[in-house]
Parts: sequence; structure tokens; C-alpha cells
Amino acid sequence: MAYKLGIIGYGGMAGGYHIGTVRREDIPFEPAAAFDIDPARLAEAEKAGLKAYSNLDDFLAHEGGYDLVLVATPNNYHCEMACRTMEAGFNVMSEKPVAISSDELQKMIDTSEKCGKLFTVHQNRRWDRDFVMIRQAIAEGAVGKPYMIESRIQSPNGNGDMYNWRGMKDHGGGMLLDWGVHLLDQLLWLIKEPVKSVSANVFPLWSEEVDDYSKVIITFESGLVAQMEVVTYSPIALPRWMVYGDRGAMTMQDAGDAKIKVRRIKKDENVVIDVPAYVDHRMITRKQKRHFIEEFEEFEAPETVPNNDWGSVYKNLAGVLAGTEELIVKPAEVMRTFRVIEAAFKSAEEGVTVRF
Ligand code: NAD
Repeated sequence: MAYKLGIIGYGGMAGGYHIGTVRREDIPFEPAAAFDIDPARLAEAEKAGLKAYSNLDDFLAHEGGYDLVLVATPNNYHCEMACRTMEAGFNVMSEKPVAISSDELQKMIDTSEKCGKLFTVHQNRRWDRDFVMIRQAIAEGAVGKPYMIESRIQSPNGNGDMYNWRGMKDHGGGMLLDWGVHLLDQLLWLIKEPVKSVSANVFPLWSEEVDDYSKVIITFESGLVAQMEVVTYSPIALPRWMVYGDRGAMTMQDAGDAKIKVRRIKKDENVVIDVPAYVDHRMITRKQKRHFIEEFEEFEAPETVPNNDWGSVYKNLAGVLAGTEELIVKPAEVMRTFRVIEAAFKSAEEGVTVRF
């Protein structure tokens, strides 16, 4: 049986990615109808075989209803669309970023509880292959106990992505809400312990009204630090991932090639080995030379880790609707991430470290 999917906002993401995904044979959803305010997009929806509505009330009254409604409008409309849809009796998955404030998100969560409807967010990058590999390597103790995790994305070509509503503040534009929310969702899903503080720089470099550079540093209760950076313009790229642990370090230069390099530290104080040439000797005392690099390992994505398996979002939702699976992207997790985002904006604006 295929679950019926309704779509609000039939733009690039819905009409391209979501339609293609739910029509895969292994995904038990079938798109039924779409609502958009742009006639050209409605024509596209019709071409794709969906019933097209130019009015939300008519869309919500679609014969047969929906098992799930995807909200994929610009970010400032997510809250209103999601709440009206849940109030009409339907489950909702909102695109990321879930909303443009934690107050809006709280309203969405309250509405979901009041109406008894499922509410989740399309945090598809939890299934990114690079992230899955790094998460697995950390869990397997590849570098011992991590003390610093760095996650960053970088673009070489300026603010090419900040077009249209993405460059408008009142539409929830800006790169921290656009890409930062993915990177922070990954880090906060990976690290379950309480957040102690957030410190950030968030500013526009090329954009007129929204941020296109952000660095967010999160300190957790145990002292573990996670840093994410969204760089909209840099012709030189640092690694996608860098993880420092008490037994070594690992890095992945590029998400696309999905290769992890690990170097582990020798713990045996009695063995003296040469310090590799790339190490800055000024930072090394004689004693430290005794326990340096023990082994080098490089591994590629195993076949068990598929490339960006985003269809798993829908597979999980099918399981939740069938009552056989637990929801993976939970509203409380999304709220935790949003609180960090708000703290990052505050930290950047006021030049302070925000304590939790
Ligand atoms: P888009 O501009 O291509 O599409 C937005 C669509 O919403 C347009 O068709 C527009 O006409 C319609 N729309 C605007 N206002 C509306 C309203 N009030 N009511 C109904 N429809 C309205 O944008 P996009 O790239 O498709 O992004 C849409 C959402 O998807 C955003 O929230 C974005 O952050 C998210 N997104 C997520 C990912 C991901 O990886 N998860 C990737 C891209 C975009």
C-alpha cells in the first residue's frame, strides 16, 4: 500500500528531489496533490500527475486526504502551513529549517500534540554518507575519546546560493539557517550530551541582508567541543571533517570521495620513534617524541554505507505510520538544534558566549 503525500510549495526541492524519491519503487508513498501560489509551478505539478491547487483550503479538502503532507515553501511560511495542515487532520513533515524562530517551532510542536498528528522535519543529511562514516568511526573508537569535532562546508564561488528568498531576512534566508541547520543537526544528533555554551561569528560577506559566513562553537558538558563552519567564499578548502581524539585524529577532506584518514598515537613511553617531518618541531618536547604516531589507516565507504541514502527519511516515516518504527527525526531534537542556532545569532550579535 502506498501512503498518500500532499505537497505545499511545489518548488525546486519538492518538484525535483521529493517527487523523484517518493516515486522510487522502494518508497511506499505516492504524491497525490500540491498547493502553490505560482501558476507555473502548479502547471509542473499537473504535468507530474498531481492534482494542483492554488488555494490552501481546497488543497486541505482534497478528496481522500493525505497520510503525510510535506511543507516545502520558503522558510517563513513553514509554521503557518504546518499548523493549518495539522489542524485539518494531517501529519506533517516540514522542510528544514523547520521555522524561523523557536517560538514558531514551539507552536508547531504544540499544534501537533493538540491535534494528535505526527510532526517531523526533513533532516535528510543525517543519512549523508560522509556523516554516517564519521559517526561510525567515532563509535568504533577510531581516535579514542573525541575532544574536538570540526564540520565545515565551503564554496569557492561567492554567494551564488543566496538568490531569491534565500537572500531575504524576513523569509528566513541566510546560510546559518540554510546549510548550518544541517551541520548542527548532524553534530547534535551525534553528541547527545547537554550543551554548556555556544559562541559564534555570523555575518554577511557578499550578501546584503543575511549571513553568508558562520562559525559556531558548541561546548558540551563533558568539555567536548564541536565546531561548525559555513564558508560561502573560499577558493581554498579545509577538510569537510576533522576529529581530534585522545588516541589520534581523523579527517575527511571531501564529502564526495568519502575517504577517512586516521593517525593514531603511540602510547608506549619506552619506544622512541622519529617525529614525522610534517610535525612542527617547535611544539614538541623531547619526552613527547617518545609516543608519537603509531599507525596510519585510510578507509573508504564500505558497501554497507550507501551514498546519501535520503530515501530513508520516507522509509522511516512509512514505518512510523505502520506502527512498526520509531520516528528518527524527533521534534525535541529539532528544538535543541534551533536553540543552538538562536544562541549562535545572539552570540554573534552581542559578542558574548551564550551559556545554557
Ligand atoms: P523554491 O523557491 O524553489 O520553492 C518554493 C516554492 O514555494 C515555490 O514554488 C513557491 O512558489 C512556493 N511558495 C512560496 N510561497 C508560498 C506560499 N505562501 N504558499 C504556497 N507556496 C508558496 O525553494 P526550494 O529550494 O524548493 O526550497 C523550499 C524549502 O525546501 C525551503 O525550506 C528549503 O530550505 C528546503 N530545502 C531543503 C533541502 C534539503 O536538503 N533538505 C534542499 C533544498 C531546499
